[in-house]
Amino acid sequence: MTTESPLATALAQLRRAVDQLQLSENDWNTLSTPRRTLEVAVPLRRDDGRVEMYKGYRVQYSTTRGPSKGGVRFHQDIDLNETIALAMLMTWKCALTNLPYGGAKGGVAVNVHDLSLGENERLTRRYTSEILPIIGPERDIPAPDVGTDERNMAWMMDTYSVNAGFSVPGVVTGKPISLGGSLGRNTATGDGVAISTREALKVRGINPEGATVAIQGFGKVGYWTAIALENMGLKVVAVSDVNGAVTGFSSVKDLFEYSQIHGTVVGAPGTDTLTNQELLWLDVDVLIPAALADAITEASAPGIKAKIVVEGANAPTTPEGDAIMNSNGILVVPDILANSGGVIVSYFEWVQDKQNYFWSAQDVKENLNKILMTAIVDVEQMAKGKNVTWREAAHMLGVSRVADAHRLRGLYP
Ligand code: NAD
Repeated sequence: MTTESPLATALAQLRRAVDQLQLSENDWNTLSTPRRTLEVAVPLRRDDGRVEMYKGYRVQYSTTRGPSKGGVRFHQDIDLNETIALAMLMTWKCALTNLPYGGAKGGVAVNVHDLSLGENERLTRRYTSEILPIIGPERDIPAPDVGTDERNMAWMMDTYSVNAGFSVPGVVTGKPISLGGSLGRNTATGDGVAISTREALKVRGINPEGATVAIQGFGKVGYWTAIALENMGLKVVAVSDVNGAVTGFSSVKDLFEYSQIHGTVVGAPGTDTLTNQELLWLDVDVLIPAALADAITEASAPGIKAKIVVEGANAPTTPEGDAIMNSNGILVVPDILANSGGVIVSYFEWVQDKQNYFWSAQDVKENLNKILMTAIVDVEQMAKGKNVTWREAAHMLGVSRVADAHRLRGLYP
């Protein structure tokens, strides 16, 4: 394992929090070990009749504070270690925001862009069937992540329900509204990233009105973050996807429509093209990595000119990149705080499914704001009080709450 693997990074962050909180070696041993890891083979009959085998994973890192919760990623590069790292981050994130959940993550190592719609459905259903014994509304509740969306969640919910013999909407979140989804879930992660951005700007004494932003990644998180920031009066000056970056667009919505038709933002009328590296180094107030892990490294961090970095993606920064940004005085809003809007509204969806009572968009927005603002204030005060970074404060809060729950429950037998 290199020092830059997401699992090494996550373990290093945990070790630091355990040391800063002066927890015991017993605590370290329990906190650094995933509770259940499942690796499955997922056979897929391709449209041309060939049968291919894919690797699938589901990791339930913790169930101490409630059922585990976390996304399903369809991406060619995922493996067990990365899935463990992301499940660990979900654990601290749910504790930091005080949701009654442990943490989980799952996925299939597949390039979704190679699949037809029918192949995607068959793969999703077979993956669900393979992990079915360990998921459920009281056990572990998947949600969308990179490469999956509400269609995949509908197929997962249907596969689980067909096996149960009745409809079980609460088995996944991020579903379409007509299947028990929540208003505001599709925009929630972006809304949360935008709220975190606004608050970080205030802490740094920068007026959000007219502040400039560059966003790496233009998927579910990047796009809705851009929309929410524009609604708050910030100026999104550059965005990127896997093919490259663009500046000079006049409307984020029009750019998105172009990318839906052409598969990329690159080449949109009236824009100039940049490399992804050039986007990271733009002279903006805020940089938002909202794509994949390890975007900000020892190599890319020294060139960053933004005053604030808000982590929309999970684990976008290596420890070396983090240290460089800290020594350059950049305020980094860590992933487990900045992108927690998604799991907060997933929690609302699960609560609504359990109660069969659905909230208005206004109720969702207000409650999201309340929970996230509490976490932001907790992190800011802890960072100030203990003279630590926002990342360290967020981990200390999340980890200490899980450690407390372990202690109170005791060790069986
Ligand atoms: P997505 O699949 O919808 O979008 C990913 C985007 O990143 C795409 O625009 C893709 O082209 C781009 N991308 C991929 N590789 C890139 C590269 N090398 N350079 C630039 N852009 C690149 O995924 P998403 O749901 O938006 O998730 C993005 C990140 O946010 C992930 O780290 C995910 O774990 C995290 N996250 C997602 C949610 C959620 O609710 N979807 C919640 C919390 C965190």
